Amino acid sequence: MERLPIFLNIRDKRCVVVGGGPVAARKAELLQRCGAELEIIAEHACDDIQSICDAGKAQLHLESFQEKHIDKACLIIAATDSEETNRLVSELARIQNIPVNVVDQPDLCTFILPAIVDRSPVLVAISSGGSSPVLSRKLKELTETSLPDRISDLANLLASYRSQVKTEIESFDSRLRFWEGILDSEVPELVYSGNSSKANELIKTKLEHSRSDSVGKPLTGEVYLVGAGPGDPDLLTLRALRLMHKADIVLYDRLVSEEIMKKCRPDAEKIYVGKARADHAVEQETINQMLVRLAKDGNRVLRLKGGDPFIFGRGGEELESLAEAGISFQIVPGITAASGCAAYAGIPLTHRDHSQSVRFLTGHTKDGEVPLDWDTLVIEQQTLVFYMGLVGLPVICRELISHGKNESTPIAVIQQGTTRNQKVVTSTLKEIVTEVDSAQLKAPTMIIIGDVVKLRDGLDWYKTES
Ligand code: SAH
Repeated sequence: MERLPIFLNIRDKRCVVVGGGPVAARKAELLQRCGAELEIIAEHACDDIQSICDAGKAQLHLESFQEKHIDKACLIIAATDSEETNRLVSELARIQNIPVNVVDQPDLCTFILPAIVDRSPVLVAISSGGSSPVLSRKLKELTETSLPDRISDLANLLASYRSQVKTEIESFDSRLRFWEGILDSEVPELVYSGNSSKANELIKTKLEHSRSDSVGKPLTGEVYLVGAGPGDPDLLTLRALRLMHKADIVLYDRLVSEEIMKKCRPDAEKIYVGKARADHAVEQETINQMLVRLAKDGNRVLRLKGGDPFIFGRGGEELESLAEAGISFQIVPGITAASGCAAYAGIPLTHRDHSQSVRFLTGHTKDGEVPLDWDTLVIEQQTLVFYMGLVGLPVICRELISHGKNESTPIAVIQQGTTRNQKVVTSTLKEIVTEVDSAQLKAPTMIIIGDVVKLRDGLDWYKTES
């Protein structure tokens, strides 16, 4: 991050606006809304400035800017049409370490003003870091439309219970759950529809229940087994995102990208339990036991897995131990790598004319072989998709050809599909090993074999190196 976003309390603090035109007036209006003790320095004042001052909301000095004007100021905004004055204000403010903003001149600013969605006390501030004011405006529009108008009433209602809840529910974790329970309940909708008194009653009842429920009773944890998809964070499901925001602890795999991890609750504990080929960082049995123990300790545990948890994900084994231990759990499917990679490489896995079935296989090698029933794999009009197949690629191609598959059958190898680093290499069963070697592809890769690969030429929308 290039800048620290903060919300500054300027109530009754001396703030200075230099400039007398409409832009200066808008800035003055903003500072005044925050309760600043405002002074405006301008040689000429436009009508808007004049009316702000006439209403007693700011003091106007009709004179040219001088150093004394910024004395003891806590914040300065320069909005004059003189480049020289703007520069001078910026320099003098910097010498005294007073935060300064010069309108439309980022190089003269020590802070920038964000686009604001104001539903006080809820405030959303948006910045593109000066890169594109239009982008900030678009984001502001999006936020304006997605934030209910009465969210301010909701915030005020919750605030009115804050200290009572703090006294009555001692443990931090229980309090967190209480508030989450309120926000997941009908309370917000009641407030948004104007029924604050009913919402108020509901909070009271829930507070009474939580008081009697929590006496001497340990918190019960649960486990969410969640598929994180193949890499692109936009492919997460809404339910995955919701649980990622909720979980106290996250156990994640090697295939879960950094970008996806950033979407988890920032204060959640994150534990890496990834496995690389032949390098089992944490044994499966240990993971199973960890899940049980953490949930028994009262945590909401998110087990985040690449793709879909039930496709080559050992999700079943993890759930068996949870079920045995009587821990409650939820399963959230994810987009499996086969679907993600195929879509982002422009290869339909089935097609009316080319393939009526698709098989998901593991290409994992055992003693240098890939133990599969090859006779069933060489039949026509079938797409083969291999997970974990990079090391075994030469064996896969050799076996298919020796069991009768045409050596000119199209094949694609997709590295890190759906991510920015996606690479696609296409060739034939005969040539692919050489092509993949020269492209220096690395795991994770997905292998797709069949006539459908030929369709890619017309459907490659997510252009990547190939
Ligand atoms: N449960 C996962 C699969 C885990 S097995 C899923 O449903 O997708 C791990 C294998 O998945 C990797 O070896 C690789 O073959 C494949 N894989 C996962 N993500 C991938 C990606 N983004 N690009 C290419 N292959 C991927």
